Amino acid sequence: MNRRRGVDTPGDTPGIRKTSCELNGQGGGCRRVAGTPAGAWPAHQHTGTPAHRQPAHRVAGAQTHRLAGTPGGGGFPPRRSGAIPFRCGPDARAVPKGNAMEPLSDSQYRAATTGGMPDAEQVADGLWSLAMPMPGGGSLGYTLAAVHLGPDGTVALIDPGWAEPGSLERIDDFLRGLGRQMADVATVVVTHAHPDHIGLADAVRQASGARVVLHRREQASIDAEGAVVPEDLDSRLQEWGVAPERARLLHDRAHGSAPRHAPLHADVLVEDGDELPVAGATWRVLHTPGHTPGHICVVDESRGLLFSGDHVLPTVYPGLGLGADFGENPLTAYLRSLHRLHPYDDVEVVPGHGYRFRGLAGRRRDTALHALRRVRETAEVLHDDPTASIWDIASRLSWSGGWAQLQHSIMLFSGLNQTDMYRDFVVSGGLESPEALWP
Ligand SMILES: [Zn+2]
Repeated sequence: MNRRRGVDTPGDTPGIRKTSCELNGQGGGCRRVAGTPAGAWPAHQHTGTPAHRQPAHRVAGAQTHRLAGTPGGGGFPPRRSGAIPFRCGPDARAVPKGNAMEPLSDSQYRAATTGGMPDAEQVADGLWSLAMPMPGGGSLGYTLAAVHLGPDGTVALIDPGWAEPGSLERIDDFLRGLGRQMADVATVVVTHAHPDHIGLADAVRQASGARVVLHRREQASIDAEGAVVPEDLDSRLQEWGVAPERARLLHDRAHGSAPRHAPLHADVLVEDGDELPVAGATWRVLHTPGHTPGHICVVDESRGLLFSGDHVLPTVYPGLGLGADFGENPLTAYLRSLHRLHPYDDVEVVPGHGYRFRGLAGRRRDTALHALRRVRETAEVLHDDPTASIWDIASRLSWSGGWAQLQHSIMLFSGLNQTDMYRDFVVSGGLESPEALWP
């Protein structure tokens, strides 16, 4: 299935405001790689905590053990086609409430749950977590950039964040507080091409000469997004059973938010298992498609950490299929990617948003079950009416804000896109036995 536009995900976690990593893009956001689209985004608000304070929280005894080897992604039967024999996932009533996540940062946890910006903090020797502001609020009011200080004087960043005015200076100021500066940045690793992660990458590159690193599939997604033409969208809306008047609205909305900047081209394209070119740390690429086709997590083997990007987040469930040219159902890819993180269940997770935590096993499970509940709902609708259109199915799914609200929301396209993904997953068999992975 070819997901053409990266757009938002209608509400998934009650009480948490959805913005970029989940929504990503309000009509095509993942193309806006270098700019700061004002349009649909709510005004950013934060309490203005200085970025470069002394560490508020240091993790005692950072792990030093080497992580388990390459996780296996196998065990998935071939996809079937034909009818709709989907064996539903676990019953929602059996889903345990909450999970066993343990926040590892007071400042980040407080900011994620009550608002504001967390302090910059040291995570381990030579490694810092720096919140970068983005439009939004709550746990999605900032991106957690990782700052690694190499013993050779270089600096490596993961996900420098949104291209907000002043963000470049924020990083430079922070580095100067540590005796380095922007010019020392040699590597910028980007977990995926959404503006809250990649937005500032080109500006950092221009200011420092750093190399920007992306997964090969993510670069392909950026390139494919650039090839989308309005007719593609129109034909999809027609297939989905969207009434002409509503389709016109969605068309105008999507093409009215076209990117104003040229797509970014990475300097280094990586594959799963590659070691990243970073001095003084062993950073290993884990390809984790689902949120986007070329999303990566980064395993810090030297410190025993997992940088999870938007693949697994502590406060929200990531939207899926937010990129182009997946080559397979994004949900299938996502569930497989979630499962392959199991060797890292006991390590500290540094996510793209929210707060550092331990307890990946529980969070992976909750995240998978959330997706499988939506699968079950879709299967039930199709069981009653196998010919139901995407529009009809969407109208019968449970959205956190309700279908009536979604119909008039800027997130409608995303809702329909997600519905298409779930329908395809059900009809094609998806994972034959997801309950085997999440019993
Ligand atoms: Zn994000």
